[in-house]
Amino acid sequence: MARIRDYWRHWASSRRQQASLASSLLEGFPGVAMLVDVDGVILGVNPGFERYSGHPAHTMLGRRITCLDVDPLHGDIGRALACSVARRSPWRGVLLCRRADGQTLHQQGVFQPLERGPGEPLRLLVTLYDITELHQGALHDHARLESLQGTLDRLPGVVFQLRQSARGDLEFRYLSAGLQALAGLSSQTVMDSAEALLARVHGDDRQRLSTSLAQSAVSLSPLALEFRLEFADHVRWIEGRAVPRRQRDGDTLWDGVLLDITARKEEEQRTQKLVSTDMLTGVLNRRAFFDYGEAVRALAARHGRAVPLAMLDIDHFKCLNDTHGHAAGDLVLQAFATTCRDCLRPYDLFARIGGEEFAVMLVDTSPEAAWGVLERLRVAVEAIELDVQGEILDVTVSLGLALMPPQGSLELALSQADSALYSAKHEGRNRLVSAPGYPEPRVHAC
Ligand code: GH3
Ligand code: MG
Ligand code: MG
Repeated sequence: MARIRDYWRHWASSRRQQASLASSLLEGFPGVAMLVDVDGVILGVNPGFERYSGHPAHTMLGRRITCLDVDPLHGDIGRALACSVARRSPWRGVLLCRRADGQTLHQQGVFQPLERGPGEPLRLLVTLYDITELHQGALHDHARLESLQGTLDRLPGVVFQLRQSARGDLEFRYLSAGLQALAGLSSQTVMDSAEALLARVHGDDRQRLSTSLAQSAVSLSPLALEFRLEFADHVRWIEGRAVPRRQRDGDTLWDGVLLDITARKEEEQRTQKLVSTDMLTGVLNRRAFFDYGEAVRALAARHGRAVPLAMLDIDHFKCLNDTHGHAAGDLVLQAFATTCRDCLRPYDLFARIGGEEFAVMLVDTSPEAAWGVLERLRVAVEAIELDVQGEILDVTVSLGLALMPPQGSLELALSQADSALYSAKHEGRNRLVSAPGYPEPRVHAC
């Protein structure tokens, strides 16, 4: 019996403690708290009610809670109450309320059905917490995001975020709307499948693109590269720049831009052609010969191949100039260059390196085969018949042939070819002479 009495005392005191905790929580609640019945009639309010709703507490007791709504008849407060009552479960959501002074507020509302004893009517605890500032902040952030999005979409290029999984799969997580103009593809299409864009990358540039991506992913160094996108009837040059960062899960993320640089590339190519072309004859100039010749030398060295090269000098050109005039001499130079170019393959280097001096590098040609190519060229020049004011001008050329060994220098080989050319002049001109040690031509048995 004593134990039952102790238990009862303990229960009664804990109920008192709980009740006082509940009322101090309601007192301290920084918003509106109300006790309402199932019809929404306000039975009691917390001390902060007037401060947070603007209505004096006594004016609201006995009135319906819907009168706090901006739309008392059709607003959300009525729906929230009905929902919570019907389901006997809490309802949470944002409600638009009106204060007594007419000001509208966004309130975070909670309708909480309260436990009741048997036969007791259902009551609900309703709390309203002002989130107007939060809501306005969110609206402001949304407006800023929208405006930023508009700015991104109007940029003359594409802003992107690219993700590469640890397995190497590529996925565009964001692409601004400029992609349509740049690649003729919608951002969504490429976000669904990066392959849609990668398939448009020029075949010659794909390897370079994946190598650059791999290097950037490994070293986390910025990505910078130029590549072409292929369309049915044209190509477009694109410059891509991006900064990588590693995610915790091992993925790599690049934030970057793509820009259309076709106009710049075409201008560069035009300028490159101008600076590498001899204006009178249209063939490469001296500078381009040494630039491209160095590239040919490096490639041949890598493959362990020797490259035949020759110096060419038009015979008695000064005399031709003196006799027929400088303009006639120019015509001869042009006809000579065209004839030589026609005797060579497109990838052989042929350049005017001085007044009436030319040089040729026979790419991918054996030393023995070079004899045949250059001899045919000599004969073709000999066959030129240039009609200048009714007079037919004959042209001949002397050639000096040398071999640039796999690890040899271009300058040294050219000076050997020049010495051989000197010998050709000395031996009577209109002939091809090789440097000492140059392999002899193959003699075909009849
Ligand atoms: P060789 O058979 O020994 O080569 O005698 P060559 O007269 O051809 O040689 P030389 O070096 O004495 O003369 C070259 C001439 O080429 C002298 C120069 O006036 C002329 N020349 C150089 N550049 C041009 C040019 O652009 N146009 C014309 N018409 N003549 C040029
Ligand atoms: Mg000369
Ligand atoms: Mg000459």
